[in-house]
Amino acid sequence: MDNALKMKEPGADLGEGTFLDSVESYIDRAFAHLDLSEGLAERIRACNSTYTVRFGVRLRGRMYSFTGWRSVHSEHVEPAKGGIRYDASANANEVEALAALMSLKCALVDVPFGGSKGALCIDPKQWEVHELERITRRFTQELAKRNLISPGRNVPAPDMGTGEREMAWMADEYKRTGPADIVNANACVTGKPLSRGGIAGRTEATGRGVQYAIHCYLRDAAHEGIGGRRDLSTMTVAIQGFGNVGYHAAKFLSEEDRAKVICIVERDGCIFNPGGINVEAVHQHRLRTGSILSFDGAESSPDKKRGLEVECDILIPAAMENAITLENADRIRAKLVAEAANGPISFQAEKVLLKNGVIILPDLFVNAGGVIVSYFEWVKNLTDIPFGLMERRRRERRNAQITSALESMTGKEFPEDMREEFLEGGQEIDLVRSGLDDVMRGAYHRMASVLSELPEIRDFRTAAYYIALKGIGDAYKAIGI
Ligand code: GLU
Repeated sequence: MDNALKMKEPGADLGEGTFLDSVESYIDRAFAHLDLSEGLAERIRACNSTYTVRFGVRLRGRMYSFTGWRSVHSEHVEPAKGGIRYDASANANEVEALAALMSLKCALVDVPFGGSKGALCIDPKQWEVHELERITRRFTQELAKRNLISPGRNVPAPDMGTGEREMAWMADEYKRTGPADIVNANACVTGKPLSRGGIAGRTEATGRGVQYAIHCYLRDAAHEGIGGRRDLSTMTVAIQGFGNVGYHAAKFLSEEDRAKVICIVERDGCIFNPGGINVEAVHQHRLRTGSILSFDGAESSPDKKRGLEVECDILIPAAMENAITLENADRIRAKLVAEAANGPISFQAEKVLLKNGVIILPDLFVNAGGVIVSYFEWVKNLTDIPFGLMERRRRERRNAQITSALESMTGKEFPEDMREEFLEGGQEIDLVRSGLDDVMRGAYHRMASVLSELPEIRDFRTAAYYIALKGIGDAYKAIGI
């Protein structure tokens, strides 16, 4: 479950505008580089529809009312795609901003979805599992009535406060509504458990994408790396938000790339160790105690602010929007910020960071791993065949022939440490990771090309917005809008 950190009330005006204002300002800034007619720009910018639903569920001997939203930002490609978050401070302004980010994200990474987002105003911790199930099923019925959950029209997924359990309930309830197309019904949501039509690697996908995004930047010879270095094992990392995304990103970067995670920030404080924190041990500690604090491999502090402001090579905000605003932007001491959350840097704060020379890899790119693997899951559900099934044994046979040919040609044995991996035909998880890596590299390449071809665009976010808005604009123009 995404268990992200809360810093600010979503939708709250920070004195520098709301989250939606920030997203719209980023959009307008990129529009200035595009030659779109005013009417078309306005069409792309505005959210198509926001449905508010209030429903009652009888629980604990009385009726409880719940409010939820599902915004559809764009339908230039269908279905529209995006998560559903469960959060007590969710509101329509926040959901619309998140839906816009989904449209842009899908367009940037080139997955064939429009953008949507949903939320239910609820604190999931206040309810028992069986109660959450009833609430989720009721919410699903309301969404289904308006085609806001459907394999071809609108496909929800997990977000903050929801996970594969909620997605399994939603898919099951959707089937009970009697859809005409029952064969494809499993594709009505993504992020389901493997046993209910999910795909290997979906839970880790966003964190995995964060790792791949950083790799893309470090491989790019057009930039000087981070502090002149390209090897992650020489770098320090701070993570804000130790939910599904933050945990996986921290785990992969520290265990596979040997980066030093020196600080982890959560809603009740932060832990710090300049010598490096054992991420998996913190995860286990949190499962046992309910908090990252008092972990014996690091110094604990109730001061959340300090964590974000720690000196490090890479800062990964992986919690909520507006983690970095005018209030703290000047105190950020990271060399690179990789936005694993949606909208963690306000429009005004970004100007300060850029002025201070901080490199920002934007959310549209960095956190796209979730929806990319959701796309694979959706395709798997529609085709009803696991990835790799048809060719795995054939590839294994072919690889075995290559090894024996090499052995007889050279008279030497194939290296034992490589044999197993070489002979293996590719499990679903390998194919998912390979596909994710490929899509991330493609998106990075498009951003890098814009930066090298259009000198007036100088930062990754404007490049990402430029590509996304151009793609959406071209799709609208193609159908005569
Ligand atoms: N909630 C995730 C996001 O913000 C995933 C969306 C999806 O898989 O549709 O990108």
